[in-house]
Amino acid sequence: MQTQLFIDGNFVPSLSGETLATLNPHDNTVIADIAMANHADIDRAVTAAKAAYPAWKNMAAADRGRLLLKLADAIEANADRLAQLESIDTGHPIRDTRFLDVPRTAATFRYFGGMADKFEGSVIPVDAGFLNYLTREPVGIVGQVVPWNFPLMFTSWKMAPALAAGNCVVMKPAELTPLSSLAIAELMAEVGFPKGVVNILPGLGHIAGQYIAEHPEISKVAFTGSTAVGRKVVQASSGNLKKVQLELGGKGANIVFADANIAAVVQGSAFGIFHNQGQACIAASRMIVHESVADEVLEKFVALTRSIKLGNPLDPKTEMGPLTSLQHRDRVLSYVDIAREQGGDVLTGGKTPDGEGFAKGCYVEPTIVHAKPTDRVSQEEVFGPFMTVTTFRTDEEALAIANGTEYGLGAGLWTRDLQRAHQMAREIRSGMVWINCYKRVSPGSPFGGVGASGYGREMGFEVMREYTQAKSVWVNVDAKIPPYFPR
Ligand code: NAD
Repeated sequence: MQTQLFIDGNFVPSLSGETLATLNPHDNTVIADIAMANHADIDRAVTAAKAAYPAWKNMAAADRGRLLLKLADAIEANADRLAQLESIDTGHPIRDTRFLDVPRTAATFRYFGGMADKFEGSVIPVDAGFLNYLTREPVGIVGQVVPWNFPLMFTSWKMAPALAAGNCVVMKPAELTPLSSLAIAELMAEVGFPKGVVNILPGLGHIAGQYIAEHPEISKVAFTGSTAVGRKVVQASSGNLKKVQLELGGKGANIVFADANIAAVVQGSAFGIFHNQGQACIAASRMIVHESVADEVLEKFVALTRSIKLGNPLDPKTEMGPLTSLQHRDRVLSYVDIAREQGGDVLTGGKTPDGEGFAKGCYVEPTIVHAKPTDRVSQEEVFGPFMTVTTFRTDEEALAIANGTEYGLGAGLWTRDLQRAHQMAREIRSGMVWINCYKRVSPGSPFGGVGASGYGREMGFEVMREYTQAKSVWVNVDAKIPPYFPR
């Protein structure tokens, strides 16, 4: 199978004819050859988006919303196909793609379909005799760059609010996982989105991604990916001073206080770090546990970790699949050596699993490492099934460790003490805090970080502000206002 680019409502070959194979990370067999976009293809997409923009922007907001609602229905009608495609391309277990990724994708399109005609302007109280009203206008042509870890879901997170607000989109999925975004393009064409409103072009990051960030006719770039590339996007965007939104890396602190419900900690933290093989920016990658309960928590957590069923993502019994690529698997495993070099103690995992079924795939055993808060493994984003554990004595110490990285995306805390929970939530430097739970997301709840985790927010009303700009309109409503130069 060879895929094509989605430009101006049609699937078309890339101008260069270049392709890149996308692999099944379970056994590294080729799933499809993906047409790769270069600069000229992006230019074609921008031209199509510009042509579509005036009508799309001026369409009744409820009609834009209706198309997004139809797309949500189409996603549900194609749930099994989308879940399989996502599992084969990414390695997510089918139980997750079927029951989390696909429903969440539909829910996001539905939420913003409903939002389209409810995001209002306002009237500002100004000097007597004047009416000042504020409208929110779309930004224009929006470039969106998506990573490989949740490609289907992140397609909806980026696309749905941008379209609800009246923008046109040029999107680049990650080179490793483009299939589900292209499947969404098919469904968009089916449900009747006007040509050119959405263009989806797989391509290499340093070519197509970089060009989207640079493009003089793209007014905003929304980027999800690593902090290192986020910095490049900011630099590339400076030519036309486009708006930038960055969802970058994380190093999630997960603080367990002495009074926590240990059974809930073990389940919630395992989901927090091992869901999607730990390839999540909000992964609970640093457990910070009170020394008085550390032994009990770790004994139970290690036992649960050792019982996790690794396997083919398409097997409904599989609880953890492979990582996204062999290169990424090796990067994650290199952190086991880095941990040991700095005196870290590997409590479980730390290698590829034994067994015939894993030989050709990108598998890594779920890994727990006892490490100091300053060690590289406690500071750098590993982006795999790799959790560090460190102990603390006082609340102040826990907070200092939690806030002691350059990141600030998501953090969890487990306690039955209401006051402590809210005090901690206030002091933790991060965009999201989960109390007695971890990694909850919803289309209505703002998602994003601070520091090296980026800026701007996805989801909810916040993201509608990101995809619009305010226009302040002044009207003289009093004929008797005295002139400045009376004659
Ligand atoms: P990456 O930064 O390598 O790639 C992300 C995307 O950027 C890909 O589509 C890639 O092709 C593109 N890209 C690469 N070079 C580019 C360039 N010079 N200009 C423009 N685009 C370019 O990241 P990744 O390895 O695909 O994803 C993992 C990273 O993403 C992790 O650091 C993770 O924390 C982060 N992430 C953040 C969030 C969030 O919402 N904060 C969500 C998921 C992933």
